[in-house]
Amino acid sequence: MRLYILLSFLLLAVFCSSLVDASRVKFGTLCSRNPSNRQRGCDKKYGCGHYGAKRGNRKHMGLDIMCADGDTVVAPFDVKLNGRSMPYSQNNAINDGINLSGQGLCFKLFYVKPDRYSGTLKKGQRIGRMLPMQRVYPGITSHVHVQMCDRSDPTKYF
Ligand SMILES: [Zn+2]
Repeated sequence: MRLYILLSFLLLAVFCSSLVDASRVKFGTLCSRNPSNRQRGCDKKYGCGHYGAKRGNRKHMGLDIMCADGDTVVAPFDVKLNGRSMPYSQNNAINDGINLSGQGLCFKLFYVKPDRYSGTLKKGQRIGRMLPMQRVYPGITSHVHVQMCDRSDPTKYF
């Protein structure tokens, strides 16, 4: 009987830690035509896609996941939509994005036109579509920008 109680507590502990531990979270597919979340490498003109890459005298505070212009962007896991998040202060053709939370993480996706800015989505359901990045940066590797709300490195989740 005592062993049974002990085991129950152990199971409960394991269950709870799996709910809380966000470090083991992995992003599912973000763009339909890039099911394995291939990351953007480096472009001749526009720099690299990894976290911390140089952007003039600033740093790239996110991770770029390859995404074709017009592709369908989907929820990487069950998410809550927390409103609009725009990458630029000056407007252009790709200046839109969404703030999301789920799996204990808060993050933003840039260059995406969401169908809506609130509510919830299940993993794999459509968030919206990739905006026409080639129109703004001709020749760039088109991509969605993933940025954690606390500006930490998202790479470990991929
Ligand atoms: Zn980026």
